[in-house]
Amino acid sequence: IVQWTPFFQTYKKQRYPWVQLAGHQGNFKAGPEPGTVLKKLCPKEEECFQILMHDLLRPYVPVYKGQVTSEDGELYLQLQDLLSDYVQPCVMDCKVGVRTYLEEELSKAKGEAQAAQGHHAAKAVTKPRYMVWRETISSTATLGFRIEGIKKSDGTSSKDFKTTKSREQIKLAFLEFLSGHPHILPRYIQRLRAIRATLAVSEFFQTHEVIGSSLLFVHDQTHASIWLIDFAKTVELPPQLRIDHYSAWKVGNHEDGYLIGINNLIDIFVELQAS
Ligand code: ATP
Ligand code: MG
Ligand code: MG
Repeated sequence: IVQWTPFFQTYKKQRYPWVQLAGHQGNFKAGPEPGTVLKKLCPKEEECFQILMHDLLRPYVPVYKGQVTSEDGELYLQLQDLLSDYVQPCVMDCKVGVRTYLEEELSKAKGEAQAAQGHHAAKAVTKPRYMVWRETISSTATLGFRIEGIKKSDGTSSKDFKTTKSREQIKLAFLEFLSGHPHILPRYIQRLRAIRATLAVSEFFQTHEVIGSSLLFVHDQTHASIWLIDFAKTVELPPQLRIDHYSAWKVGNHEDGYLIGINNLIDIFVELQAS
């Protein structure tokens, strides 16, 4: 069962249901400081946040406030709660990039397929093919992003975007997300352009392969913003290797297609504004 509200958050005397559009329900908790959430610690992700706090991208990611140990002894990252300044926010998670698995995950699956014997063989052979195929049923492989989940201010929500693939389907979902708040559209376009301009000069972006990371869109009646979240699969590029985040991915070249997604998002939002 999908749980939308893993906990209630309290901030500035307001109590509101926190919204989680992806990941396991147990991965998030209310933070010890007001306006923060806790995400289960992943050392790779922590490393990214530490670098990002000193990168030009800092205004576009949640503030990282260090590690916290919960009552049950588990380690968490304490992050700025991006929902805390909004009243009944509409929230959308878009996962960016033309693939959502790491090169090493694919080569591991291929290795297992080769090593497999007996009745496990069929399953092992299927896995690498499945990983590549899975990205083609959504808009990931073609548009360089996919919708993971949308929650509207009336509380209605959907994570049912696994096969939302065509530009037209995506546009309808975005229109639904924006319904009742058309004045928010130019703010989103402006913010996406600012993100693209900052990516072009970010040292972090130049040196990392960004996989499985999302843009989190948040708006209410009066304001709107977009942030980069989820760096659990973002890894430093091998030394001497550079990617442009735009060229076609071929096994081994590490291209992630992140800018294909950003460009398509901007184009689609601009088309919506014109229509
Ligand atoms: P997955 O890898 O399956 O995408 P995950 O466990 O890595 O999930 P995230 O993608 O980082 O988790 O976050 C899951 C959801 O939690 C997001 O879609 C968003 O709704 C919410 N979320 C994450 N970080 C924040 C934040 N700092 N402020 C507000 N909401 C957040
Ligand atoms: Mg995520
Ligand atoms: Mg993740």
